[in-house]
Amino acid sequence: MSSLSVSASSISKTENSSIPSSKSVSTAPCWKCSACGKEFNDVKHLVNHITFFVRQKDKNHLELYRKIKESSDKSSKSFTQVVEEMLKC
Ligand SMILES: [Zn+2]
Repeated sequence: MSSLSVSASSISKTENSSIPSSKSVSTAPCWKCSACGKEFNDVKHLVNHITFFVRQKDKNHLELYRKIKESSDKSSKSFTQVVEEMLKC
């Protein structure tokens, strides 16, 4: 009648702590211009970036601009709001 079952619980305690929660990376916000792949951590910079290239008549950015504008008109959201949602990384 010897009891060996008690000592087992002290081993499993240390094994659990080896798995860290991998949630510490996503602190910086991120938006990506789908026309050229450039990334921004401020949505206003991305809007400026797009409108700058639209003024330069860049084909890819014009296409992206039209897509955002269309979605903005449909949903009655502002251009920036649509960019914020549509181009988030
Ligand atoms: Zn771009």
